[in-house]
Parts: sequence; C-alpha cells; structure tokens
Amino acid sequence: MPRNPFQDPASAHEPAPATAPPSGATAAHGALANAPGEPCPLCASTKSRRLFRKHDYDLRRCAGCRLVRIHPLPSAEALARIYDASYASGAYAGFARASDVRMATAHARVATIRPHVPPGPWLDVGCSTGALLAALTEVGLEAEGIELSGEAVAQARARGLAARCASADTFEPTRRYACVTAFDLVEHLIDPGAFLSRLRGWLVPGGRLAITVPDLASPAARLMGRHWHYYAPPVHITYFDRDTIERMLARHGLHTLSIATSPKILTIDYALEQLQVLSPALGRVIGPLGHLLPKGLRRRPLHFPVGEILVVATA
Ligand SMILES: [Zn+2]
Repeated sequence: MPRNPFQDPASAHEPAPATAPPSGATAAHGALANAPGEPCPLCASTKSRRLFRKHDYDLRRCAGCRLVRIHPLPSAEALARIYDASYASGAYAGFARASDVRMATAHARVATIRPHVPPGPWLDVGCSTGALLAALTEVGLEAEGIELSGEAVAQARARGLAARCASADTFEPTRRYACVTAFDLVEHLIDPGAFLSRLRGWLVPGGRLAITVPDLASPAARLMGRHWHYYAPPVHITYFDRDTIERMLARHGLHTLSIATSPKILTIDYALEQLQVLSPALGRVIGPLGHLLPKGLRRRPLHFPVGEILVVATA
C-alpha cells in the first residue's frame, strides 16, 4: 500500500495511513474489543460523540475530555496483519533513499529537545535506521535505540550506531536515560498511557521524555477536516490535541515542560516520489511539472506545517 508523502521521513517505519508498523512498540497492547460505552482511557467517561467516519471506522470524541479514538478498536491480530502486509509489500523501499530528509528532521528535533535535557545517555524508541542516533552522536551525545524492524536495525548498526531489535513491551534497560524519545508512535497505540508509563520508568530522576503526536486542533487539521492525512484508521487509533496529550502525560506521572509545533521536513523530490506511489494518476500529472523545477530547489529541505507537535515532559 502507498505511503503518505507527508509521513515523517525521520523514521523509516513511520506508518503511512493503513500501511507501515509503528517502530519500537507493539501497536496493540491492552484491551481489544471496543464495546459501546467503553470508558475513555483518559477520563473514564463512557459518553462520546461520533465526529465522522473514515476507512470504515468511526472517529469518536469523548464527551468528558475531548480525546478522540477510532471505533471499533482494531484487534491486535488485525493490526499485526496490516503491518505484516506492509512489510511484505516493501512499502518503505523508496523511503530508504530519503536519508537527507530524515537527517534534517532529526537535527531539527535534537535542536528543539536538547536544551531541556540533563547530561546523560539518550534512548530512541522506534529508532528505525538511526537518523536521530546519528544526529545525537554528531553533537557528542551518547545514544542508543530500539526498533522492531531487523532490517532497519541492521542498517543502523552498519553505520556504527547502537541499535537493537526490541519492542517497548519487551525491552528491559540495564540503565536509566537522561532522555527517552518516541516519535510518530503514540497515535498508533490502543493503550498510549501504558506505553508512556513504561517509558517514564526508564528515565533518570529529572530525565526527559520527548514525543511527537498529530495535533487535531492544528491549523492543518482544521483546514483539511476529515481529509487530514493523520486521520488514518485503523493504524492511527488515538488522536490528541495539546490539552489531551498534556493530560494523558499527567495521568501517567509526567509533567509537560514544552509543546512545540513540529514541521515535517521534506524535499519536493521526496514528495513527488511518494506521490507516484500514493496516487499514481495524480503523480503522472504533477510529476512532470515538478521536474521542471531547478534541481537545487527540488532537493532543498522545506518545512511543512502538517499539524504535528513535539512534546517534552519530565517525571
Ligand atoms: Zn475522556
């Protein structure tokens, strides 16, 4: 299945809507069947309102706290099938070539997070081929990562980076970290609270947790409505805004220090390549026009405000 061109290039396994698996975490831990009136994982309210339907799933907003989730929740088995199929289809092949784009995103994230972090080692959950690890190593920080994809781990290790194959569910750290990062992951989880809680346990006292999530109150989300690319059931399960992510973190013992808009960094070449996969018909029309642009412009990293936020929190 195709990738979305605005998916995060910093993580080779950042799922395109309905395709790729979340890196580093099992997508489906926790309860699986979503009975009507099931309590909200943030406020326990059983009342919710349907916003709209997309890809055969309802998106419902909690009446108590405004957290949005899909209904019904997919089973762990259904999600595993989707992710296995996308691995098998080689949906990431083109993605592996976008290393300049991934590095630009990694550098931007490090610049945003680093001022908040005490000295000590970093852990990147869902490190993919190691863009963030490389960016951290470049500035002299000690960094290691975990990642579900053995192929991505092999690529990271070939670059001399400390990556290992593990999920957040199974990883047992032998030390504590000054910073734990998890990008493009939380929205994939049926039980994001359990995941955040687990990561919190890996921090040194005063350590920082940094995550990205799509912000459904962002201008991009408001502008695009149900067509916003992050509305991607069943792989994107839980949808936050600045208030609900802060409350979810607080519920699991994490105090939010900063929330920043996190633009996607893409090149026109990369976006065109992904468009060919995502929408071949549109790609045939726009592709040739795009290639009339100067090569320098096509390869320049550009910042797109797609509606993602980067949150830094502490225990
Ligand atoms: Zn709620």
